[in-house]
Amino acid sequence: MTEELCCTPTLSGLLSYEQAVERLVAAAHPLSGTDNVALRDGLGRVLAAGVVSTIDVPGWDYSAMDGYAVNAADCRSAGAELPVSQRLPAGVAPEPLVPGTAARIFTGAPIPAGADAVVMQEVCTASAGRVRVDVAVPPGDNVRRRGEDIAAGSEIIRAGTRLEPQHLGLAASVGCAELVVCRRPRVAVVASGDELLMPGEPLTPGKIYNSNLFTAGGLLRALGCEVIEMGIVEDTLEATKAALAEAASCADLVFASGGVSVGEEDHVKPAIEALGTLDMWKIAIRPGKPVAFGHIDGTPFIGSPGNPVSLFVTFLLFVRPFLLRLQGRDDWRLQPMQVIADFDWQRPDKRREFQRAQLAIGGDGIARASVHPSRSSGVLSSVTWANGLVVIPEGRVIARGESVDFLPFCEMLR
Ligand code: AMP
Ligand code: MG
Repeated sequence: MTEELCCTPTLSGLLSYEQAVERLVAAAHPLSGTDNVALRDGLGRVLAAGVVSTIDVPGWDYSAMDGYAVNAADCRSAGAELPVSQRLPAGVAPEPLVPGTAARIFTGAPIPAGADAVVMQEVCTASAGRVRVDVAVPPGDNVRRRGEDIAAGSEIIRAGTRLEPQHLGLAASVGCAELVVCRRPRVAVVASGDELLMPGEPLTPGKIYNSNLFTAGGLLRALGCEVIEMGIVEDTLEATKAALAEAASCADLVFASGGVSVGEEDHVKPAIEALGTLDMWKIAIRPGKPVAFGHIDGTPFIGSPGNPVSLFVTFLLFVRPFLLRLQGRDDWRLQPMQVIADFDWQRPDKRREFQRAQLAIGGDGIARASVHPSRSSGVLSSVTWANGLVVIPEGRVIARGESVDFLPFCEMLR
């Protein structure tokens, strides 16, 4: 950690949420290395090289309707009668319009030179090679213009964009068949704790299942990472050092769950100190115990408390921005929604609270957030009950009906 990144802590030695995020983001260096992927495989990846169109889209003026292409000057008043001189289904290249005639035209077909409007078939009467146009036709009617979507030479998707289905469609619309994307960050997950068993193993006294591996693994995959499962590490210094060193040798980031406190059974801190450098950050938020950040042989390391809820929240608030920056994304700042509190909060705290919350739209169309009754960071079912986090600022009391900030999970899992 360099000097200039060390901000003044608030609340006697604690970092604010913003300070901790800024430090992490500053320490995350976008990965070098890209993959060339077929367009259909780009979903969820982060674009490494912007997509520039070589063509106008649409490539020519075309009809938005089934009807007749005309020169509007021939149809200034209702009732004009014109011979039909050509038929233009979508996909054909038209001949110039014979002056004083109409062309039968279908949606998507290019407008012939000499025509400047399309009159829809519902207001025309056709008979024996002629058409009567029963309305006056303004120039430009029902014509979609060349380049109105995309102009040749323009950048249509910026580097750093996470590719959604609509981006794939847009790239396809300019004929782009391959994309250059950031390679997936490789993240090694280390779960430490003598109490841990893998799902599928029989439960024995004193043990619990290793849920954090699956929560963290799912979060990582949702954010475009490759997950390397390092297994369960026993609570000894030697085992912790060995696992962390191996993890650092094969990953872009080592993420550890549990063992980051300073108790007798917590070996992550001394292990990293022996292998590299470590900062323990106490951050003025709830839930959340210390977050550990360091480096092992140049590989960044983030350690989260083992409590399943703390891990989930810590990940969304701190690990996510780091991972987004690794992939060159700059949309890591959370954008809270303003919603109405469907709860009273009478316990002001010096720390900012990120409470598990459920947002629902009432019969009156208003979005209201309720908070889970449990504040325990061990109650993982509260996280599946919730669809986001309500942010309760430091020292705030909230009365039902007031406006609060809400962070939807769906925005943070991408
Ligand atoms: P620790 O951070 O190691 O002190 O663990 C805090 C709490 O989280 C303890 O109750 C642990 O049993 C629990 N815990 C630690 N690691 C995991 C894990 N991988 N899955 C589920 N719970 C865990
Ligand atoms: Mg432990």
